[in-house]
This record gives sequence, structure tokens and C-alpha cells, in this order.
Amino acid sequence: MTIPGVPLFPVTVVGSWPRPSWLLEALRKRQAGQMTFEEFNRGADRAVVEALRYQEEAGVDIVSDGEQRRDNFYSFVVEKLEGVTLMTLAELMEHVKDTVAFDQVLRNLDAPAFAIKNPTVVDKVQPRMPLALDEYLFAREHTKKPIKVTLPGPYLLTRSMWVAGISEAAYPTLDSLAHDIVHILHDELIRLRDAGAAFVQFDEPVLTDVVFRPEVKERTFMCASMAASSGDPAVELASATQLINQVVDGVTGVHTGLHVCRGNWSRREDVLLTGSYAPLVEPMLGMHIDQLVLEFSIPRAGELSVFQPYARQREIGLGVANPRSDEVEPPDAIVARVDEALEYFDPGQVYLNPDCGFGTFAERILNTPDVATAKLRSIAQAAQTLRARY
Ligand SMILES: [Zn+2]
Repeated sequence: MTIPGVPLFPVTVVGSWPRPSWLLEALRKRQAGQMTFEEFNRGADRAVVEALRYQEEAGVDIVSDGEQRRDNFYSFVVEKLEGVTLMTLAELMEHVKDTVAFDQVLRNLDAPAFAIKNPTVVDKVQPRMPLALDEYLFAREHTKKPIKVTLPGPYLLTRSMWVAGISEAAYPTLDSLAHDIVHILHDELIRLRDAGAAFVQFDEPVLTDVVFRPEVKERTFMCASMAASSGDPAVELASATQLINQVVDGVTGVHTGLHVCRGNWSRREDVLLTGSYAPLVEPMLGMHIDQLVLEFSIPRAGELSVFQPYARQREIGLGVANPRSDEVEPPDAIVARVDEALEYFDPGQVYLNPDCGFGTFAERILNTPDVATAKLRSIAQAAQTLRARY
């Protein structure tokens, strides 16, 4: 299905926008219990409106609310669900068997243990309010553009929320938690569809960790997969596929996407994961979603030719700009990358976006709004050139 009102080669975002410093201060107060969620949201409203304006001025066709109300792309669920507590990685370290090894993992990866917070299950999970409907409804009032809403994928959410030594009393196994998570995400997808959201994107970046670092079975930092993995990528990917299909099956009338990247927590390219999408293409195509939102602007992500045997099977949200760099990718270079993608995708199947968000973790801003805007503007210029051609 296509999204009504969007041109060919729609320009969109992966989700997060850099949060202003005053919003970070409010977020810290909220997390310290010195501010209610309602008080925090009243301030965040302004940040959302600003994030929307930046995107509109840059020429983005499908906008997001910049995830301004979120601490990160999955931890925000603590505000919406009973039975979940926010814990920093530093706090979680007390529950890790091999504290020294976990600390070393965080240091090696340049992961800020005090700045990255994990939603940890401490009791039965019950919805207190819809996960993202409030965000969507506010953004809807402040832009005429179609809106993309991002949600954590069910595999990521289950693996991050279930922490050994803390979560067993409520959920003896990962599977028992996954069952509840799937229901919550399925209900949310329907709610967002009914409210008019154009695009719902599920974030599953941890899948790259599963295939590129299978030796890390205990706890990996990458997107806080806190639960032990089977260590078998095939088993993990089959589980991720099954879970997302349980979320989306039977829901029509809304564009769906899956975002998989190699991490976006540091500007140090050497600490982020490396590897092509090759081992992930088949599992991703087994997921009943419309679009794969993938990073392709950096050499670490491998080649587009991984789609050769699977040409034209799915839409692609083509990552054409690095959210972590100062240099703005020239429109010509973006057009050239799209030309390459058109060997494996039809023009109507290609959406253009940066590789990832510009502020995945609130406390780790990866770029300024000005550079982010310039990158989006360059993508929009490339889209104009492509539209004239096709
Ligand atoms: Zn990403």
C-alpha cells in the first residue's frame, strides 16, 4: 500500500531529533521524581513543535515528533506501563554475575553507563496508557504532513525488559513476558492506525548484535539486550520474526516498517558494530511488514547487493546520511546511492532517510539541529532530482 499524499522517493526520518538542553534538564527532573509526567509533557510540547518545524523546513515528507518525550527509543515505555522501572546500566550492573566483564563491555563500546537507561520488568506488565498514541495525537495537531510513529520491536522490548535476578518473580521466562508485550504492541498498532498514523516503524536494532556478536550470550550492551540469548543467531532471528508477525498480522490500513541498524550511541565509528545485512535479509523478508528501514550511508553497513536475490520483494527506507557526522552528504552522492538501490528496488519502493535518529539516547546527542536539518535538506534536494527523472 502507498501513503496518500506523498510524492515518489518520500523523504522521512528514522525517529529521534536532538533534544534541547532545557528539555534534558526537565527529563532529569522527571526521572528524579521532581516533576510529573504531565508537567514534563507540557514543556516537551514546545520541543516537539520545534522538531516538526525543522523537518518541515528541510522538506521532509513524512515527519516524526522527534521522540522528544522519550529518554530513548524503548525506555519511554516506563511511563506507559505498570510493572516496569527505569534503571541505568550502572544500577543494573549490581545484578550482573560478572560485573567486571559487563563494565569492560560498556567501556570498550564507549557506552555511557549512567546515561543509558533500561526499562526493567519488576512486576506483571499492565498498560497504564497507550504507548505512543498521546505522542501521535499531539503531533497530529501541529503538522499537516503524514506522521511516522516509532515503537520498539517486540524482540528488543522483551529482551531488554527481562533482567535475570529481577524479573523472574513476575515472568519466569522470556516467552511469558513476550506474550504480554506482543499484545500491547498489537493493540497499539491498531490504535495508531485508527487515529490516522500513516507509518508505524518497529525498531529492532539488537538484531545486528545477534548476528555480528553471537559469542556474547550473557548480557550485551547493544540496545540493552539484558536477557541471556540462546547464542544461536538462527534461533534468535526466528523468534524475532515470529514475535513481530504476531504483532502485525491481521492489521491492515497502516504502513509498517522495521528499522535495523548497527547502533547509534557514539560518534566513534570504531565502537559501533560492523557487518553486512546478508545474514538478516531472509529473516527480515519473513516479517510481514511493508518496509525495511536500513542504514546504507556508511561502509560498515555493507553493500546493497545483498538484495540481489530478493529484488523488488519489499520497500526500502534507504539510509543515505550518517546521523553522527558533521559533513553533509551532497545531493549528487545521495542520487548515486539511490541509482544503485534501483537495481534491486522499483522507484515506488524507495523511501529516503538518514541511517538512524539524530538523538537515539537523550543524554547522548549525536548532532545539532542545524546539521541534522542540513542533512535532511540535502536528501530532499536529491529527491527532487530523482522525481524529475522518474
Ligand atoms: Zn538505528
